[in-house]
Amino acid sequence: MGWLCRIGFVLISLTALLAGGRARAESTVDLRSEQPIVHLAPWTHYFHDAGAAADLDAARAAFNAGRFQPLPSQNPSFGFKEGAFWFHVRLANHAVTEPRWLLVQQYALSDKLDVFAAYADGRVAHHIGGDALPFNARSIRYRHPNFMLRLPVGEPVDVFVRVESQSSMQVPLVLYTPTAFTEMSRDAQFAMGLYYGILTALFFYNLVLWQMLRDSSYGWYLLHITAFGLVLLALNGLGYEYLWPTSPWLQDRSVPLSICLAQIGMQQFARSFLGLKARWPLGDRVGLAMILFFVAWGIASIFLPYRVSTPLASLAVFASIVWIAVEAVVVTRSGYLPARLFLAAWGMFLLGTGMFAAVAFAQLPKMFVTDYGVQIGSAMEMLLLSVALGYRYSALRNENERVVREAKEQLEHKVEQRTSELSNALAQLGDAHARLRESSQRDGLTGLHTRMHFHERFTPLVDQARQHGHAVTLLMIDLDHFKQINDEHGHLVGDECLRWAAHAIGQVLRPHNALLARFGGEEFVAALPGQGLEEGLATAEAIRIALAATPCRTGGRSLPLSASIGMHVVDVRMRCTIESALQQADDALYRAKADGRNCIRTSSARAA
Ligand code: GH3
Ligand code: MG
Ligand code: MG
Repeated sequence: MGWLCRIGFVLISLTALLAGGRARAESTVDLRSEQPIVHLAPWTHYFHDAGAAADLDAARAAFNAGRFQPLPSQNPSFGFKEGAFWFHVRLANHAVTEPRWLLVQQYALSDKLDVFAAYADGRVAHHIGGDALPFNARSIRYRHPNFMLRLPVGEPVDVFVRVESQSSMQVPLVLYTPTAFTEMSRDAQFAMGLYYGILTALFFYNLVLWQMLRDSSYGWYLLHITAFGLVLLALNGLGYEYLWPTSPWLQDRSVPLSICLAQIGMQQFARSFLGLKARWPLGDRVGLAMILFFVAWGIASIFLPYRVSTPLASLAVFASIVWIAVEAVVVTRSGYLPARLFLAAWGMFLLGTGMFAAVAFAQLPKMFVTDYGVQIGSAMEMLLLSVALGYRYSALRNENERVVREAKEQLEHKVEQRTSELSNALAQLGDAHARLRESSQRDGLTGLHTRMHFHERFTPLVDQARQHGHAVTLLMIDLDHFKQINDEHGHLVGDECLRWAAHAIGQVLRPHNALLARFGGEEFVAALPGQGLEEGLATAEAIRIALAATPCRTGGRSLPLSASIGMHVVDVRMRCTIESALQQADDALYRAKADGRNCIRTSSARAA
């Protein structure tokens, strides 16, 4: 921004120099009705009365002694200066229709103005003005000090203006015919109205948004534009005209107070908008320190003289707005997109305010862009900031939506994962359960079903047979003298024989859809669905032969085996229990053993 200011300054200085070159040689301003607005700078001479002691006579003496000088580069701004300044201009009115002209000092903040119109006949008219007087003391109720001068046609009038002020010494004097003034002030009032209209619209627009969105940034933005509007109202004199016309005391403090308030609002807005606490903690702390400074200095400015409070406040404003620019740059570089708009807005404001402040410190001459620089820059800034707030809000909302969407997706993914893990575990558990069930159903040694399984399946088997009108035959098969095999050849050989016998029985029963189980020890049980006495006997016989016909070959030995079989034909029409059926078969087996073994006996109970 610095180089821009410098280029601007050089350009403006050049223009001023050229204008100076065209300055009238004669020192009298000839007023004519064709030129109803006259900027008096080219004809104005000034004298700095550092002690503020000179009265009109002393000033006239100084003027006659040639101690008044032309304005440097026709610029009537001197910055903050002690003492009083005297200005002189000689007027000659040639406008027959305009006996009265309005002298306006286009700067709202000068404390005390004395205007002396010295006529040729020795009469002196004295007018007083400035914001040390109540607003209503002015000739015309207008934001700048103004004085209605009577200028007799054809008669030269020496006008001396004495200014003494705590504020910046700026005395741009302009003469208007009453008509020209009316027209000019209409235009100026319209431009101001436009500016404050924009501010007011932005204020209410953002007030509503703040109420709806509850985003604190909007609140700080409102404070900022309100306080900033106050700064401008104080600087351009409209505050004194409309808000506090009877209080020169408040008028005197309005500038530093509103400046401090505006900076508090702006710094806080920047912290909140840029999210400094998270994005740049150092910047956040410096911003907070600045806020504290402006709070303290705002309070101090109530008690301190204007000349002390305002220059420091203005310098602090420079530091503050530059710091906000730094914050915006840092956060923009960190990739936070809304900060770009903020930076652009802030650039506008810096340019406008920089030009205005340069005038206050007598670095730039007064002209339209410097006079209205703050208004133009700040209106653009506040418009852009309002847009930036909207952009930031939608960015935040998008971000929120993205986070929620991602969280939802993650959750769904997790649920899916957990579900599949769970169904895997369930499947494994099912497998394990099936295997466990299977192993509980199978006998470890022979691979036949267990006695428990036989019990479970027997009743359904009988029920089914009853439905189909089939018979069921039960066989109890017990190997003969098995203890001897164990005793003679050992348990392992005994086991081998058990396996062999189980296999042999299984082979015989395979075509018969029988339910076969190891009942315990060397004893087996078989249920033969669909087999009555005869078929049952045939099957039992086949088993007996299968066992007796072939010896068990194991470990190079050949061991003959035989079995006794007890048979019982279950009466499916009666609801008999498995226990009684087994008992019947067991009794028959007992008889087979008693009858010499390796034979089949049937139970006495017969199915009809
Ligand atoms: P009987 O002709 O009267 O049935 O005579 P037995 O010796 O077969 O009958 P007993 O009830 O006296 O003996 C059964 C034997 O079966 C006793 C036991 O050592 C043997 N035995 C039972 N279960 C097993 C087994 O799982 N493995 C082995 N190797 N032997 C078994
Ligand atoms: Mg036995
Ligand atoms: Mg036995």
